[in-house]
Amino acid sequence: MFGLKQNSLYSNLNQIRKFVQIFSLIFLIAVPVLILYEIWFIIGNLYSITIGGLDIVDPASALQTILLSKEVTTTVLFGLIVPIVLALVFGKVFCSWMCPYNTLTEWLTAVSAKLFKKRARKAKLQLVDRNPNPILYWSILAAILILSWMLEFPLVLFLSAPGIISSEISHVILGMGMGLELLIVLVIISFEALIFKRYWCKYVCPVGAVLSLFRVRKTLRVAYDKAVCNCAGESEPCSYICPLQLSPKQPYLYPYCFNCGLCIKICEKSGSGALSFKFDEKKITAEISNSKKNCCE
Ligand code: SF4
Ligand code: SF4
Repeated sequence: MFGLKQNSLYSNLNQIRKFVQIFSLIFLIAVPVLILYEIWFIIGNLYSITIGGLDIVDPASALQTILLSKEVTTTVLFGLIVPIVLALVFGKVFCSWMCPYNTLTEWLTAVSAKLFKKRARKAKLQLVDRNPNPILYWSILAAILILSWMLEFPLVLFLSAPGIISSEISHVILGMGMGLELLIVLVIISFEALIFKRYWCKYVCPVGAVLSLFRVRKTLRVAYDKAVCNCAGESEPCSYICPLQLSPKQPYLYPYCFNCGLCIKICEKSGSGALSFKFDEKKITAEISNSKKNCCE
């Protein structure tokens, strides 16, 4: 399925992604509604959920629990299988396809871009010519975990935007009121949409960061073929379109990139096809060096 350069594949992928985002939000609303009708097939939220007996635990929440309780239960271990396998195969697609924080930020940013056209254009046309060093990303995650361990406080749970949004949806629907955490998350989303920057997902969120730990050489990635790239400097649509202000052409794309595929879509649209999804890092490197060789012979 992946590794093919087809316009329709990459264009349709974004439509499917948007559909999954809407479905995921409806799913989060449906869970407490079903509970209201005393249907207990699905219980939980994005910290931890049980679907027909299958436990799924957010790896960041699991790590937090293990750190604070100093014990590893089989429920936690089995609950980690689905998210870890998903991350090992497809990368952080939970973020770009399912996370309600990302979905709401994308929607609100689109509204904000319509309201503040000039500012949106200015923000969009800021050239990204490098990606931040991953040391920054890992240091922030390490600081959160160390602080949580030292204070014996579940900091990760309070910084998990998907967990907060999903549990607050449940609380509101089940008549348990709304917590201050949701208000804070909504303020952050609105702020990021107004300034057209995504600091939370790019640097802070421990959910995305812990998912980033599960990467191997064969994990799905954005591959760049320099030999067929027509764009340079000021005319790089791939970095302008990236919601996280990353440049898919530069080193250190991972652990930051959440494989949304928007850069690949725009690259195909520009007619170059220099970006694609690939599973094999080794193969990517070989292909790039072959194209370089062919181009210079
Ligand atoms: S980084 Fe966190 S808030 Fe952002 S999309 Fe991923 S899980 Fe959601
Ligand atoms: S680099 Fe491409 S795939 Fe990665 S987050 Fe940015 S637009 Fe999405």
